[in-house]
Parts: sequence; C-alpha cells; structure tokens
Amino acid sequence: MLTLKSPWLRRLALALTTVAAVAAGPAQKHAKYVFLFIGDGMAMPQISSAEVFSRAMTSKDISINRLGFTQFPVAGLTTTYDAGSFITDSASAGTALATGNKTLNGVINMDTTKTRQFKTITEYVHERGVKVGIVTTVSLDHATPASFYAKTPSRGNYYDISVQLGRSGFEYFGGGGFLQPRGKDHDQADAIALARQAGYTYVNDKAAFQALKPGAGKVLAVNRTLQDSSSMPYEIDRKPDDLSLADYTRKGIELMASNPKGFFLMVEGGKIDWACHANDAASSIRDTLAFDRAVSEAVKFAEKHAGDTLIVVTGDHECGGMTLGFAGTQYSTFFARIAPQKMSFQRFNDEVVEPYKQATARDKARLGDLAPAIRENFGMDLAALSPLQQAQLEAAFQRTMGNGQAQPAQEDRFLLYGGYEPITIKVTQLLNQTAGIGWTSYAHTGVPVATFAKGVGQELFAGYYDNTDIFRRLARVMGVATPSR
Ligand SMILES: [Zn+2]
Repeated sequence: MLTLKSPWLRRLALALTTVAAVAAGPAQKHAKYVFLFIGDGMAMPQISSAEVFSRAMTSKDISINRLGFTQFPVAGLTTTYDAGSFITDSASAGTALATGNKTLNGVINMDTTKTRQFKTITEYVHERGVKVGIVTTVSLDHATPASFYAKTPSRGNYYDISVQLGRSGFEYFGGGGFLQPRGKDHDQADAIALARQAGYTYVNDKAAFQALKPGAGKVLAVNRTLQDSSSMPYEIDRKPDDLSLADYTRKGIELMASNPKGFFLMVEGGKIDWACHANDAASSIRDTLAFDRAVSEAVKFAEKHAGDTLIVVTGDHECGGMTLGFAGTQYSTFFARIAPQKMSFQRFNDEVVEPYKQATARDKARLGDLAPAIRENFGMDLAALSPLQQAQLEAAFQRTMGNGQAQPAQEDRFLLYGGYEPITIKVTQLLNQTAGIGWTSYAHTGVPVATFAKGVGQELFAGYYDNTDIFRRLARVMGVATPSR
C-alpha cells in the first residue's frame, strides 16, 4: 500500500478520494423492472392487525401469520411529515414519493407557492423508454395515483387531473374510475373520450380486460363495479367473480414485461386508508391482505427476473391512529371477534341504514329495528352489550335519525362520529374495541411508516429515512440522474 509521508499530501489525497466518491458514488446495479406498492394509510398497526387477524382465524396461540411483503429481506422506517404539517395527506405524501420534494397538504407535484412544478420519477423513466403503469383501488384521479402522472395546486381538481391522465402517454392505468369525468358541472369534454383520442384502449368489463394481450398499446381499464366515490369495492364487499387488485397488477405486468427497457409499476391499496378513516378494522384488514396478494404477483414475476427486478412496498402515512390494544381489553385481544363481519361500513350504510332512514319516520325509529341486521352483518348481539355500550349505540342511532340534541359540531361531528353515519361507525368502533383494537382519529396521524424492499438495490431501503428519500433511491436504482436539492 502506498504510504504518504507528507501530512499535506495525505490531506490532499484524502480530499481527492472524497470528491471522487461523492461524485460517482459506489456503482449501483440498475433494475429494469421496478414496482412501487403504496398502502394508503398503511403503517405498522394496519400491517400488524392483518398479521394477527390472519393467525387468529386458524389458531388460538399467540403468534402471527406474516404477510408476504413483511418477509422481504430489507426493511426500513420512513418519516412522512410534509412542508406544512407533521401529519401529511396523500397529495403531499404522493409528491414526496414521486418527486423527492416536500409540499403542502392538498398539493400535487408543485412547490409550496403552487407555482413551480416538480418532475416525477415516472416522467424521468418514461422519457428513457421505460413503460409506466399506475394501478389503484380508488378512483384514478385520486391524490396518490395522480401524484404519478399529474401536477395541480389542488388535489380536488379532479377533472384537470383526469385530462392530464390522457396526456401522460403512460402505458397502463387500471382500477377505479373518475370522480368528475365531465367536470364539476358536467359540461366539459369527457376525460375518457379524450384518453381514447390520445390512443388509449378503454376497457370497462371483465371479459375485455382479460382479453387484453401484450401489444394492446396504451390501456385505460376501469373496474366494472364501482362503489363509493368511483372506487373499486372494498375487498370485503368484492364479489368473487369481480376483478381484484392482484388481477390489475398481474395484467400490468403481462402488458409491459416485453418492453426492452422494462417498466415502472405503481400499485396503490387505496381503501386501506378509507376503512381506517371510518374506523372499520375488518375492512382495513381485508384490503391489506388483498394488497399483499397484489404484491405476490410482483414476487412471482421477480422469481423469473431476479437479477433485474426491484419491489418496494411502503405506506404514505398512518390513518385512524389505529392500535393493537384498547382500554377496555387491556392486555388481551380477541381478533376472531371481527371475523363475522360480512360487509364494510359503506355497504352497510348503502344497503341497510339508508333504506331504513328513507322508510322510517324519525319518531317511529327504534334501534331494535336494526338489531337483526347488525347481528347478521357484524356478529354483534346488542343484548350482550354493556349498558354503557348500549347507551352509546342508542345515542348514535338517534343522531343517525336526526333525533336528540345535537352536540356542538366540534364534538358531534369530529369527536363522536367523524362525519360518518353515526350508528355504523359506533357499531364498528364497539366491535373493534371488543377485539382489542383502538382508534384515536378519523384522520391521518404523523407516525412513521414501514418500507420493505426485495431485489436489485434492496439494500438502499434499509435504515430510517424520509419519504422524499424513496424517490432518490428509486431514481438511483433506475439509473436516473436527478438534480440535487
Ligand atoms: Zn386518507
């Protein structure tokens, strides 16, 4: 080994080595196929509850059934705060993941002044010939998917976002529909028609979807069955013959895999978040399990393309302040108690509560009228509840029917029921409490999320880092030189 006697020379040599190392970095092998899975509203409580539930279905021992992606070789912790708050929304979180920049709640791929646009990872790779796919269970114009193809000062500009979808030129969009395909006032050019004019093949039924073959060109696939806000149904409500998140993931792979430059596929489990906003653990857990099955499709592909594939799974933020443990059950949990739940809070509202409200005069309404439906769909026997729980349900039922004295909005809307249908949210809260699952909010929280990685460049995703770093690490693995901040 060369020894440098002069301290001055030694310092110079060290400085030159450092400059060279910073400039080049250690050589990074590039991935041709990159998956980014985002569980919306998915942090450790959502992951853990799915693992505990899945075990509790088959065994009474204290153990867990690991999800597929939590067994990935590399795990990291990721902070999610944005430019204006420790508690991010999906727009600023999506901007961080897609562009490596922090911005404000509600803003998609623009800076905090809402004047400067950021370049997305999907734009960087698409201009190099990489095919881009975007899949979600919620509407395609929602904040998380939009962050990978659109730029707008407000996530509520759904029409503007849906028009940008057609202009993106990205190869594959799949999942939910559009919230305002013809604009707020239904007087604009149809966004789906614009996408077709731009060369997209639009499919809206299962047979046409399954018939899509490589060479189909650019595809816009909207699920035949849409539930609330143009989203795919919650997994717990999905009919067995309807398409799943895993189906949309597998099709994206099939359509794009033959591209010589590879692909980038973002897949969002968007309704994990929506179930948690509504404090409905069973629906959140079923959607998390479905999300894991979608990840498995990528894992199967990676087994055949091991040297070329990277799979990253993360969340954009926690939601609901969900936790394992509740004051009333202390050190015990009884997850099997949420197993009998047959439908989401949303479907219960649509099919039971709303028709009952329509058909029943306020002064004739009785909680007992809904007791059979609550037992049938949630496995909850109202007669077996404690007097305190019964009183809480009765108060919620009266609020649903518009009876009783309204509390100040701050308490009634935000603390008691979160703006949801009072009787339904109280049923899921009480059911979750008996299982030992607690909730602190109807909104997001500021705790870090977990990130898992498998494949080429997986080691970059170890440690404790910020959500903006995920963009930089993905860019590095895909060989994209991005401007330093
Ligand atoms: Zn949310």
